[in-house]
Amino acid sequence: MPAEILTQFIQAARKCGFTTSELGSIDNDPILLLERSGGETSPTISISAGIHGDEPAPVTSLLNLFQSGYFQPDVHWRVFPLLNPSGYRLRTRENRDGIDLNRDFLDTQSSEITALKARIDSLSPPDISLCLHEDWEAAGFYLYSLHERQAEKAGKRVLQRVSQIAPIETANQIDGNPARDGLLLPLEFIRNDTLSDGWPEAIYLYRRSPHLHMTLESPSSLPFADRVKMHETAIDAAIEFYLTALHPKRRETE
Ligand SMILES: [Zn+2]
Repeated sequence: MPAEILTQFIQAARKCGFTTSELGSIDNDPILLLERSGGETSPTISISAGIHGDEPAPVTSLLNLFQSGYFQPDVHWRVFPLLNPSGYRLRTRENRDGIDLNRDFLDTQSSEITALKARIDSLSPPDISLCLHEDWEAAGFYLYSLHERQAEKAGKRVLQRVSQIAPIETANQIDGNPARDGLLLPLEFIRNDTLSDGWPEAIYLYRRSPHLHMTLESPSSLPFADRVKMHETAIDAAIEFYLTALHPKRRETE
């Protein structure tokens, strides 16, 4: 039997008119991709969660968004709701073989990321991608923002929205990277390719084609329901920023 939440995703997504496909499966748990097409000028938005099995709030956020009918029609949606089902069952960061899937995008070892990369490579690049995470070391919400010109503005807009409902991380270094008011801008880092311990999903996506990317991080120490709300708010704010400030086809028709 697949994990209950995967069955819930399939049911909720189908109700919203999404198609469901499997990148593969781990034991009996499918690695799901939920998709729905928009119109000719619609942007492509890709969202992934659950690549770390011990970070459950973003997975629940996505299920809530399906169940509440959040996904608006004029977007090509691609949702990977739970990339590490074995880790989710075991409540471990790594998959069942002890591999950190979010460090496995360069010299790929896992079947999960092998399948994910093949699917990503077969699809057109997204206009916006969001990778959803949680952090046990953080006291507040923070995010990484990537874009050639508007990374800072986009990140600040999202943090401003989240700050209305949750604390923002105040540390000026996060995972060894400079941070300010919960915002990390790692573009130089990515250009210089100085990652020593393997590529995360964000870098794989961004290096394939530059776009607006955010990695969103909620603090694991806060109550679950609050973290779920943080992700829902941040997802909405990031997409709103893209649609109002960056989407060229939308701008032309206004
Ligand atoms: Zn994570």
